[in-house]
This record gives sequence, structure tokens and C-alpha cells, in this order.
Amino acid sequence: MVYTLVERRRVDFSNLTEYDTVVAASNNDAVFFENILRVLPLTTTIAIVVGASQSETWWRNEVAKSTARFSDRVQFRWYDKLSFEDMLKDAADLPPHSAIFWIGLNVDAAGVAHEGNSAFSRLYRVANAPIFFHDETFFGEGIVGGPMQVVAGQTKMAAEVALRILDGEKPGDIKPSFVEVAAPMFDWLQMQRWGIAESSLPPGSTVYFREPSLWERYWWQIALVTAVILAQSGLISTLVAERRRRRLAEVQSAQRAKELTHVNRFAMAGELTASIAHEMNQPLGAIRTNAETADAILKSRTPDVAVLKDIVQDILHDDLRASEVIRRMRSLLKKVPFDPKNFDLNEVVRETVDLLSAVVAGRKVELNCSLAPIALPIVCDQIQLQQVIINLVVNAIDAMKDIPTKDRIISIQTSRVENFAELSVSDRGPGIPEDKLQEVFEAFFTSKPEGMGMGLSIARTIIEAHRGLIWAEHRDHGGASFRIRLSLVQ
Ligand code: ADP
Repeated sequence: MVYTLVERRRVDFSNLTEYDTVVAASNNDAVFFENILRVLPLTTTIAIVVGASQSETWWRNEVAKSTARFSDRVQFRWYDKLSFEDMLKDAADLPPHSAIFWIGLNVDAAGVAHEGNSAFSRLYRVANAPIFFHDETFFGEGIVGGPMQVVAGQTKMAAEVALRILDGEKPGDIKPSFVEVAAPMFDWLQMQRWGIAESSLPPGSTVYFREPSLWERYWWQIALVTAVILAQSGLISTLVAERRRRRLAEVQSAQRAKELTHVNRFAMAGELTASIAHEMNQPLGAIRTNAETADAILKSRTPDVAVLKDIVQDILHDDLRASEVIRRMRSLLKKVPFDPKNFDLNEVVRETVDLLSAVVAGRKVELNCSLAPIALPIVCDQIQLQQVIINLVVNAIDAMKDIPTKDRIISIQTSRVENFAELSVSDRGPGIPEDKLQEVFEAFFTSKPEGMGMGLSIARTIIEAHRGLIWAEHRDHGGASFRIRLSLVQ
């Protein structure tokens, strides 16, 4: 007979015959208590679960021998005199810093037998303290761990002994072998539950059932999400910086556009000089004629006061006309902020055409104006809209400089199209190539040797500030046509 899966203290060696041998576990109970106090150093109470059968009583007394060493630190509570129900009650209500040491429970003090590990499972469910036991078959069922008596260690050795016997060796000649506890092993879940740090485990311990960390379980998902977040943050900061830069650029470009608009107006003033001279000439001439007439009347013997009154009225009227011309020119050149007001598009066009009359006459161009018979109420900055019209007309004049005088005709038209007021300035020049119809509005696009290429770009900026549209078209019978569309005031 090979005695195995037994502890050496339960073997009566004097009873062995020459046909028997032993492969037994060899435990030192003190080691188990040391283990408890090592991983839970604050432990002051250890409840010992052990039954009341004969063999269990034997073990109770055996283990009790090892407890003496710890009696100054730990109070031991023995369950051998309790029914299982009472054990459960006690284990559920142990004082703080308690541990439970399991020896075994086959028959309790009430005489009730307990099969398998059902008693352990029930106790584990109610216990308020960690349970220690050194039988590896309970590992994973709820024990914390420590040095373990591993079944495979004994069975392997027992099998080897059995083989030697089968090979002809005499059992009595085979020396009894003893299997010590294996390296400590711990249950990670129990360590978490009872707050046992890995650093407090004895050296050489192995931790089992460790739950993979979030990173171990989802590393690639976490890496992916982090990468996406990082990429997003990068993108956001780039976009924010980009937006700031764009804002700055917008402010700068608005400032430049304002300055350019103003400069462009001065350039226009050059074109308009002839017109101004012409317009000023008329009232000044009339004033002079009237003044000479008045002088002659005053020199007569019976000056007709009524006629003199009329003459003075005329002079005042002409003076008003002259100052009106100056006012218009001044306001065109003034640096004023965008100031939209209610106007009739026809009126704005009429006044602009007046300003331009001398220019067109000087350049030998005919300006035909065909205004809508109805009012076209719009909200606009009059000066700016005038500026656009002058730009378009001056461009039209430039475009026709190489064609015979009789063909130099500019048509300005206004009309109502649905809810919009439309203005067109058309000429009979060479027109604009199809692929340049958009490009002419770009800044610095010019085909003129001394051109700035800003006129149409400024015109577009102004019209867009009015929420309107401006575009260039071909005329069927040659020439270019520029159209502006602005919302009508309802
Ligand atoms: P600039 O007059 O200084 O060249 P503009 O922005 O006013 O600047 O005009 C840009 C270009 O568009 C002109 O150089 C010309 O080539 C073209 N353009 C403008 N108006 C006309 C037109 N009525 N007919 C033909 N081409 C035109």
C-alpha cells in the first residue's frame, strides 16, 4: 500500500509492513499563521474552523500547539464546539482585523456532517473576514492564499513510487517521502477585496486570477481613441490659430479696402476734373453776366429795382448751383464711414451722370441713360454706389478709346427685376473674353499699361457690402455689359 494525500502526522509509521510505503504532505502550521500576519499585519483575531469528529479533534489539538507562539498578538477563536449555524453567525460578525483559518469541517459540534466544500462555500458567502487555507484544491474558491499544499506535488511523487514498485522494487525498501508546501500563491480578487498590497506578499509569491487592467484589455482601443483625441485637439488648435489669423487678415484687408476705396475715389477725381470745371463754368458765367447786367442797370438814371431784384435772385441761384457742385465733389472725396440710407436708384444714377457729363463729352462718348419709369427704392451708401457707377463708366470709356467716335456709346439702364433693382452699364468696346469674365474683378487684374486693376475689385467689395451682386456679361452685338443687382426696399 502507498499511503498518500495524507499529512505525515496522521501516519502511524510503526504499523507499516514491508509491503507499505508513504508519500505524505509535511506541513508546519506556524508557517500558515505567519503568512496571515505577514499579509495582514494588523490582524488581532483568528477564528479557526474545525469540526468535532475524532480526527478533527486530533487536528484541533495539533494546530493549537502552533498557536501558542502568537498568543501575545492574536486572540484565537475555536469553532470546534459550535454548530455550523453558530459558526456562520460568528464568522459574519467578527471584530475588525480578523482572519479565518480553515482546518476542515466534516462533522460539526451538533453532529451534522458536511460533504465536499459546501460548508466552505456557505461560510465564505457570509464571512466578514478573509479566509486562509493551504489546500490548493480550495484555491480560487475564496481563500486568500499563501504557502500551498499542492495536490499534484504529492500525486506525481506517489505515481513515481508506484512505478518503482511495479518495476519490482520492494515497498518496504522505498524510503517514505514528504512533500513540503509549494511556493506561496495568492488570489488577486481576494487581495483586492481585503486590501492586500502586492508588496506585502512573501518573496516568490505568484498572483493568480489577476484581472487584466483596462489598458491590457483595451490597449488598442484606448490608443486609437487617444490618437483621435490628440489629432482632434491638434486640429482644433490649428483651426483656432487659423481663425485668429484669418480674423486679423480680414480686419487688415477691410482696412486696406477702405483705404483703396478712398484712393480710387481720388483717381476718379482726376477723371472728373474736366466735369467739375465745366459744371462750375456755367454758374460762374451766369453770375458774371448777371453782375454785368446789374452794373449797367445801376448806372442808368432810373434803375429798375424789380429787375435788379430778379438779377440778385438769379445770382443767388447760380451760386447755389456752384456750391452744390463743390459739395458733391467734396462728399465724393470725403473719408466717411459706410453710411447706408434710403435712396431711389434712379436718383443716384441721375446725379452720377451729371457728374460725368463733362468727362464723357471730353472723351467724345455718347452716354445714353434709360431709367425705369418707377422709383427703385434701395438702401445704399450713395457715395460708394456713385463710385461704382463712375468706375464702370470710366472703364467703358477706356474700352472704347480705339473705336470710331460715332460708335462710342455707353448705355446706362435701370429696371426692376422681381424684387431687385438692376443697373447695367454697357459699352460697344471689344468686350471681355469668356474666361476673363470673373477674373476682371480680381485685385490687380488690368490690361491697361497704366491701370491699377483695383476699380472692379473695389466695385465688387462695395456691392457685396450692400448684399448685392455684380457681374460682367457679353453683349450679343459686341461690347461689355456690367450688371448690378440690389434688393428693393419693400
Ligand atoms: P483698371 O481699370 O485699373 O485696369 P479695373 O479693375 O477697373 O482696373 O479693370 C480691370 C480690367 O478689366 C481692365 O484692365 C480691363 O482689362 C477689364 N475691363 C474692365 N471694364 C471693361 C470693359 N467695359 N470692357 C472691356 N474690358 C474691361
